[in-house]
Amino acid sequence: MPAAERPLAPPLRLDSATIEAVYGPNGLLVEAGWEHRTGQQRMATAVGRALAKRQHLVVEAGTGVGKSLAYLIPAVLARRTDPDCGPIIISTATKVLQDQLFHKDVPAVQELLAPFGITFNAIVAKGIGNYACKLKLDETTGTLLPPEGLAGMVEWLGETATGDVDELRFTLSAELRERTIATDTDCIRQRCRYYHDNSCWYYAMRKRLREADIVICNHALLCLSTLAEILPQHAFLIIDEAHQLENFAYAAFTDTLTPRSITRLIPEEPGLEGLRDALQRGVATCWDQFTALLLNKGRGEWGSRQVAVPETLEFDPGPVTRVLNRYYQVLKERLPQMPSEEEEAKLQKRIEQVDSVIDRMERFCAPTLQGSLRYVEEARNGIQLHYTPIDVSEPLAKLVARTQATVYTSATLAVGGSMKFFASRVGARDYREVTCESPFFFEEQALIWAPRPRELAEPPSRWEGDEARDYLAALVERLERLVVASQGRAFLLFTSYRALEHCYQEISRRVGDQMLCLRQGEMPRRELLRVFMEDGNAILCATKSFWQGVDVPGAALSVVAIDRLPFSAPSPLSQARLDAVTQAGGNWFRDLMLPEAIIDLKQGFGRLIRSPADSGVMVLLDARIHTKFYGRLILNSLPPARRARDFAEVERFFR
Ligand code: SF4
Repeated sequence: MPAAERPLAPPLRLDSATIEAVYGPNGLLVEAGWEHRTGQQRMATAVGRALAKRQHLVVEAGTGVGKSLAYLIPAVLARRTDPDCGPIIISTATKVLQDQLFHKDVPAVQELLAPFGITFNAIVAKGIGNYACKLKLDETTGTLLPPEGLAGMVEWLGETATGDVDELRFTLSAELRERTIATDTDCIRQRCRYYHDNSCWYYAMRKRLREADIVICNHALLCLSTLAEILPQHAFLIIDEAHQLENFAYAAFTDTLTPRSITRLIPEEPGLEGLRDALQRGVATCWDQFTALLLNKGRGEWGSRQVAVPETLEFDPGPVTRVLNRYYQVLKERLPQMPSEEEEAKLQKRIEQVDSVIDRMERFCAPTLQGSLRYVEEARNGIQLHYTPIDVSEPLAKLVARTQATVYTSATLAVGGSMKFFASRVGARDYREVTCESPFFFEEQALIWAPRPRELAEPPSRWEGDEARDYLAALVERLERLVVASQGRAFLLFTSYRALEHCYQEISRRVGDQMLCLRQGEMPRRELLRVFMEDGNAILCATKSFWQGVDVPGAALSVVAIDRLPFSAPSPLSQARLDAVTQAGGNWFRDLMLPEAIIDLKQGFGRLIRSPADSGVMVLLDARIHTKFYGRLILNSLPPARRARDFAEVERFFR
C-alpha cells in the first residue's frame, strides 16, 4: 500500500519500532526508492535512542552510510515528541553539507513524512555579519561621499526580503561592507528603531530561528553562540563533520587585533584630526615592537610567518592606549549632548568599542595568562596580534552542557577503534560511542600501497642538501610511475609547498604531453575541481587542504597519493598544544600529534571511495609507516582496503 494511503496508526514515534519501520530492509525509505543500508539503520537507532533517553552520542559513520538521513528523521520525531525542546540545531563545517541538508535532505524527509501528517520547517542560521544594517544604510546613503557600489546595493535592498548579503551578485568592497553591514560591535539592538518595528533583517532571522523546527548553522556560529546568545534555546544538538569542530573553535575563540581595527575607531570627523593622527603614530610605534619580534625570531624559528610571544615578555601599549583614553573622554563628554536616544545609544556603542580595544591592547601587551597563547603573524594585510586559548575543550563543553542530548558525527572520529581522543579534544563527557560501518566493500574497491624504505627513503627532516635532493628525485620517479599506471586520475597531495612545486614541475615536464597536470592555486578551487573532473585523466598537485570537503565520485579520481604522513606543521599554536599535553602528564606525540594525523589520513582516504562503484589506490609515500612503531596503528585505523605488497600489484589493479 503506498505510504499516502496507509492508515496513520501506529503513528511515527521516537522509538525502535518506528526506526525499524523507516530504516529497516522493507522500511519506508526502501519503499521510497532508497537503498537499505545497515550502517544507516544502526546510526538512526543510536541517534533515536540518544535523543529519547537524553544521552550524548559520538557516532562514527563511514563514507556512504548516509549520515544526514540517519539523524534527520529521529531529530524530527524528537521535536514532535517534546514540543518544548526548542528547535533541533544541526551544525556543519562546510557550506557544501549545509546546502545539501537544506536543499536536498530536508525536502526529501519532508516529502517522506508528509503522508503521516508530519510536517516541519527548517531554516539556515547566519551570523550578524551576513545582514545589511538599515541604520547604517540610513547614515551611509545620507553622506556626501557615498562608497563605491552603494547604488547597486540600494537597488538590491529594494528587492530583497531577507537582507542577506549572500543574495548579492557582486562582491562587497571592504569600505562598503564596513558602512552597510551589521556587526555586533555597532548594533544598538533594543534602542534601534528597526529593532522596535521588527523590520531589522538580522533580528527577523533570529525570530524565525525561534519558531523553526530545525536550525542549520555552521560550526563558527555554533562556537560563537557560547559567547553570545545567538541560537535559540535547544535541548538537542547534532554536530555533523564534528572532526572539524576543534579547529573552528580556535578560530572563533581567538582574539585578533590589527592596525586597522584600532585606527578605524576614530572616524574622519572635523575636530578629531589631532587624535586621529596621534592614534596612527601610536599604532605605528606599538607595531614596531611586534615587527621586531617577528623579524628577530619568526622566520628562523617556525619557517613561517608566525611567532609566539614569550609568556613573560611585556610591551608598552601606552602609545595606543593613551590616545584612546583621551578619545574615550571626548566621547563621554559628548554623551549628554546627543539629540535622541538612538544617537546616544550609537555613541555609547562607540565608547564600548574604544574601551574594549584599550582592554584588549593592554591584555596583549601584558604577560600571557595561564592556558593562553599570544602570537604575532605577518598576514597579507599587515602584522596581526592573536590571543588564543591553548585548549578549547572547556568552552566547547559549554555547548553540550546547554543541551539534553548532543550527537557528534563524522566519517572520521575514531583512532584505533576508540573515540576517546576526539571526545577529549571537544569536551564531550558521559557519552555513548557507536561505529557504523561503511556499506562499501573496501577490500575489493581499494588498495593501499606504501613503498618500503628500499623503494623510497624516509622523507628528509629539512628541504635542503643532498638528502632532500635525492629524496625528491626518488619521489618524482615513484609518482611518475604511479600516474602512468593509473592514466592520471590522481590527487597528488603534499605537506609542503616546496615538495608540491618541485613535483608539479617535474611531473608536468615528464607526462604533461599525455595528461593534464593541474596545480592548486592556478584557478579557484571549485573551477579546478570542475576541470579535473571533466578531463577524466587529470593530475592535481595540491596541499592537504584538498583532503576535506572534496567530492569527486567516479573514475576521474582513482589515486590519492600523499608525500608524507600529515603530522601537524609547526606553528606557535601547534607547539603550545603539544606542550600543554606534556605539562598535563601526557605524551605529546602519542596523545595528540599521532591521533590528529590518523584522522587526517582517514579524511584523505575518504576522498577516494565515494560510491559503491568507485575504486582506487591510496598511496602513502612515507616509509615511516613501515619503520616506526606507530605505522601499524595508522594502517589499522584506515578502512579495510587490501594492502599492496609491491608496485606490480598497483599496476595490476589498474589493468
Ligand atoms: S537592530 Fe542592529 S542590525 Fe538591526 S538595523 Fe538596528 S543597528 Fe542595524
